[in-house]
Amino acid sequence: MPRTVLLNPGPVNITDKVRQAMALPDLCHREKEFTDLMAAIRSKLLQAFDIDKEFTSVLVSGSGTAALEMAVSSSLTSGRSMLVIENGVYGERVGKLCDVYNFYRHTIKLDWGVPPNLDDIENILKKQSDIEVVSLVHHETTTGLLNPLQAVGELAKKYGKVFLVDCISSLAGDEMDFSSIDLAVGTANKCLQGVPGVSFVLFRKKDLARLIKIPARTLYFNLTGYHKAQETGGLLFTPAIPAHYALDVALDELIEETVAGRIKRYGDAANFLRHGFKNLGLEFLIPEGWRSNCLTGLKLPKGLGYEKLHAELKSNGFVIYAGQGNLSESIFRIANMGDIKQEEFQRFLKVLKTVS
Ligand SMILES: *Cc1c(COP(=O)(O)O)cnc(C)c1O
Repeated sequence: MPRTVLLNPGPVNITDKVRQAMALPDLCHREKEFTDLMAAIRSKLLQAFDIDKEFTSVLVSGSGTAALEMAVSSSLTSGRSMLVIENGVYGERVGKLCDVYNFYRHTIKLDWGVPPNLDDIENILKKQSDIEVVSLVHHETTTGLLNPLQAVGELAKKYGKVFLVDCISSLAGDEMDFSSIDLAVGTANKCLQGVPGVSFVLFRKKDLARLIKIPARTLYFNLTGYHKAQETGGLLFTPAIPAHYALDVALDELIEETVAGRIKRYGDAANFLRHGFKNLGLEFLIPEGWRSNCLTGLKLPKGLGYEKLHAELKSNGFVIYAGQGNLSESIFRIANMGDIKQEEFQRFLKVLKTVS
């Protein structure tokens, strides 16, 4: 029986080396072995994306939302506001985080899958001087839409705003220009090919002076508190040690493959799958040119329910992903993140042909 291939957007299939790393020795996180491991991970993250001069990194144990909560809750000066662009579950999550922390926010609310209009963003930035942080979800995993990171980032810069990006499902999977980014949020278990349990915030060192003045609004998710501790090899709370072991090896593999190499591999896989989907007559949710490298949203064929499609594919060793919210009845999603072989994508298309 071949292994189960995960075509969901994380957790992803990992390599055997990453899996074996989790069986490394029992460890106390207050010992040098762990603080060395943490320091290595923090610098490999910056090295992989070639941003070690301008950026620093902070690790937090928890899923991607932990790092997102850390970045959102810790980056807004009291009394200022955040611009939130909502065109899927994850943009809406940034909005919900703002609400939990009672932040003022301006919101561009769009239907899921609809890209934001740049003139609308510019008009808000021009008028609303209270905005300090512009947030954007790079790859909106709800639909597979790639939001216009560079264009929004340039607008944020033009108006002197801090640019905060949720790139949890695109980092190392899609092209990303860091030049306009101030804070980037990522996680171990998507395109980085680690396992769930550790996530991170990358932020510009020159923003530290501003960030440090922001009062801690949360005990567990305070960004500068973690940064200070991690800079001196200290730890505030017990980290998910096996997930760190795995991420360290996963980063070695990423650096060896190179980020550009991985983006190409994912892009090639997405193109291969999309060619196959087209041949099967499946309809795409997001038009060409707007799709990420990492996930494809497809309309369910008439007369085929998601449950049946999922069950038949699963019995053949492939786990696919449902639509969320009001897309749950009409679409399904195929991610191509992780250590998946070309032969497995080929077999998937063959199996899909027999059920769709
Ligand atoms: C996966 C994901 C998250 C975080 O989800 P977790 O379940 O907390 O790991 C946040 N934003 C985007 C865009 C995602 O794809």
